Amino acid sequence: MYTTLMIRMAGEISIKGKNRSVFEKALMENMRLAVKPIGGVKIVRTGGRIEALLNGADLDEVATALSKVPGIRSLSPVMEAELDMDRIKDAALKVVEDALTKRQTPITFKVDGRRANKRFPLTSPEIAREVGGHVLRHTDGLTVDVHKPELTLQVEVRESKAYLLCDVIPGPGGLPVGSSGKVMLLLSGGIDSPVAGWMAMKRGAKLECIHFHSFPFTSERAQEKVNDLAKILAEHGGRIVLHNVHFTEIQKAIRQHVPEEYSITIMRRFMMRIADRLAHQRKAMALVTGESLGQVASQTLESMYTINNVTNMPILRPLVAMDKVDIMDIAHKIGTYETSILPYEDCCTIFLPKNPKTRPKLWEAQEIEKKLDIEALIEEALEKTEKLIMYSEGAAR
Ligand code: ATP
Ligand code: MG
Repeated sequence: MYTTLMIRMAGEISIKGKNRSVFEKALMENMRLAVKPIGGVKIVRTGGRIEALLNGADLDEVATALSKVPGIRSLSPVMEAELDMDRIKDAALKVVEDALTKRQTPITFKVDGRRANKRFPLTSPEIAREVGGHVLRHTDGLTVDVHKPELTLQVEVRESKAYLLCDVIPGPGGLPVGSSGKVMLLLSGGIDSPVAGWMAMKRGAKLECIHFHSFPFTSERAQEKVNDLAKILAEHGGRIVLHNVHFTEIQKAIRQHVPEEYSITIMRRFMMRIADRLAHQRKAMALVTGESLGQVASQTLESMYTINNVTNMPILRPLVAMDKVDIMDIAHKIGTYETSILPYEDCCTIFLPKNPKTRPKLWEAQEIEKKLDIEALIEEALEKTEKLIMYSEGAAR
């Protein structure tokens, strides 16, 4: 019954001035990638608007894929009707009834008529009045409110067809992935870092991920969990390169030479150094972590200061001021939560000290590290790094 999805871009894109077309092109390209596995769908630009032509593809499937694409504010399914008032009224009724199945009634309503085709005999207000009257006569639970309606039926008379749309499916908003450059996300198997990665993507960053594992102390299941998280992130931001760093030797060296209370601090400093190297290699311009101020011992300001000191790269911490419950809400919304809570061990949990230092000193960390051959350890870990390319489930390769 629906032929098209009408796309509304996030407001921020429309105020980009001269750069607007660059953002729009990036958005359309990302949309094409998102619907590619479904097949048949065409993304086009008509009269200043972006539309997804379904060409027989399943509406819900396409809407679900596109509703995750950053830069999209909302989408609406469009029904087409012949240029004849009776046909338009029939279609109007169907579109409104369909929108009502997802909403509580009574609900306020208005019709917005637009006559782009000036040969059509009725004016825009006349179209709105006639169609509105028809819908009200045949539908229960609607009252008219032309100023602040909860539901708006849009009837647009174009050259050869009328377009009708009513339902509004929210998208993530934000900016098209890739429009802000590339970042390197430190992706653990936890709840926070996938959310941080999603937030960075939503601001236009292309994501690459780096994960530190301690195989054989961490299992293959733990690795699969991280791969799955990367795949879910790929549903939102397209294909994702994942670097798996072999961290075992570094952790062994830390266990041997570092006082237990400093082991987390030193371990994090190694993670940052390696992420910094890989980011340079891969031309990423910032690191991203799932840290939230005060959440655990390694996320106090003193810890962040001491850990941050090994890199000059900006470290983006999208969750820094967020509470855990709010982070968990987003994890549910983006679909990572269920995977994140699977109980497989992480490289940090298996070497977790009983009393980690909450206020580690930079000079002390530097002093302790003198016992380690930092460069050799980093080189070895980088050499054993494995690069994977992750796609969303079902995506064409
Ligand atoms: P998360 O839920 O993201 O694991 P967390 O609350 O468990 O976060 P920490 O364990 O202190 O917090 O980790 C802080 C950040 O360090 C993580 O958000 C992530 O960005 C990074 N990190 C931790 N462990 C790893 C790992 N094994 N591989 C890659 N990054 C990691
Ligand atoms: Mg963690």
